[in-house]
Amino acid sequence: MYDRALQALVKMALEPEWEARFEPNSYGFRPGRSCHDAIGAIYPAINKKAKYVLDADIAKCFDRINHEALLKKLNTFPTIRRQVRAWLKAGVMDGKRLFPTSEGTPQGGVISPLLANIALHGMENAIKELADTFDMKRPDGTQLGKRDKRKSVNFVRYADDFVILHEDLTIVKRCQELISDWLKGMGLELKPSKTRLAHTLEEHLEEKPGFDFLGFNVRQYPTGKYTSGRVNGKLLGFKTIITPNKDSQKKHYKKVAEIIDKHKGLSQTTLIKNLNPIIRGWCNYFSTVVSQKIFERIWHLTVWKLIKWGIKRHRNKGKKWVYLKYFQTIGGDNWTFAISPKGKNPLRLLKHSETKITRHVKVKDDASPYNGDTIYWSSRMGKHPEMLKRTASLLKKQNGKCPKCGLSFKDGDLIELDHIIPKSKGGRNEYNNYQLLHRHCHDEKTRIDGSLNKGSISQIKIPENYRWEQDMLVT
Ligand SMILES: [Zn+2]
Repeated sequence: MYDRALQALVKMALEPEWEARFEPNSYGFRPGRSCHDAIGAIYPAINKKAKYVLDADIAKCFDRINHEALLKKLNTFPTIRRQVRAWLKAGVMDGKRLFPTSEGTPQGGVISPLLANIALHGMENAIKELADTFDMKRPDGTQLGKRDKRKSVNFVRYADDFVILHEDLTIVKRCQELISDWLKGMGLELKPSKTRLAHTLEEHLEEKPGFDFLGFNVRQYPTGKYTSGRVNGKLLGFKTIITPNKDSQKKHYKKVAEIIDKHKGLSQTTLIKNLNPIIRGWCNYFSTVVSQKIFERIWHLTVWKLIKWGIKRHRNKGKKWVYLKYFQTIGGDNWTFAISPKGKNPLRLLKHSETKITRHVKVKDDASPYNGDTIYWSSRMGKHPEMLKRTASLLKKQNGKCPKCGLSFKDGDLIELDHIIPKSKGGRNEYNNYQLLHRHCHDEKTRIDGSLNKGSISQIKIPENYRWEQDMLVT
């Protein structure tokens, strides 16, 4: 426990500096960033152009990581350097999963994901530098400018899993060579069995189109002229579709089926209570890419499994009897696995197929919760250590915008809490009746609605300098 605490302390000391330096397209195990941000970076890279993709995995041989190279890169003061060296020697990085996966937590310790991210820092920049030497010509035969060349290649990394995207196969191969060389400097290498070269739209050397990344499948399908998108009036001819990949679907269904099997002798109530968090979690993770077909298929499999569960409990009854006993008609849907339709909120099983699509707004390129932009991070996360819970959740609800003028709040703006229905007209002091407005927008509103009731206005102060508290990063 002492060591874990010490590792947490060292992480707190090192992280802000590295957060300021980390590359924009590194998304794994960094505060304020998620898998959805990584997927959010992939979509715009390919939605207007089909590309080749190198889908690679760094071999989990962090035990072969070059300690001296890592310490040199860390370039920190002696006390921490000595401590990190001791941890490296003791094997915090050895033969362990450094990044938590869906199957478990990292075993290396609190500090190891950060150390691994530091070790892998610089890959994106190396690719962008290589881009200057790409051979890319305009229709008139002249070379493209540096900026366009750099923009033409996309590198997205989540922990030790990354993809490189470019329309030109030769260039993708050059990038792969560069990355292999680059990794050698840290004593690392690409895992050949998990490194795959494919194309997002077409079959390439017997590799199916598309690729899997972070539990998602990303691929493009040819479309007819009526369903195709356009770029500058020209038909695209394909559509980019992101869905939960086969493996995630299988794993999820397997988990659902296991829970149902374990509940052979238990009540329907217990079964529903234990299944709901699993279904909710999976559907939330994939709610940015809801594919009706996939979600319905999993739900149908679940229903079939539930019917079998019922048949096992009542050996002498049939399917129909089981259906009538355990399924109810609620809100016109006669396939609701629920206790009883009576009462307002009967306990019922969540359905995959009722998941609503939610749009994920990708994190800004170089944004970090340490960057001091309290408004941005409060709007994004709905909370901030130096902001009132109410203010932060209102900011999130309003997407960081002032409803009066429609502009985004910026750090340093004077923001006030307004009663949507003025108190003078019977408006209440409750969350639903609150909104945040610029002070000048607020003045305007009170002038118009004539509710000059300044007494009820509490002004919100945005702290100027703040330190991001570690405990707020745990979500
Ligand atoms: Zn405003």
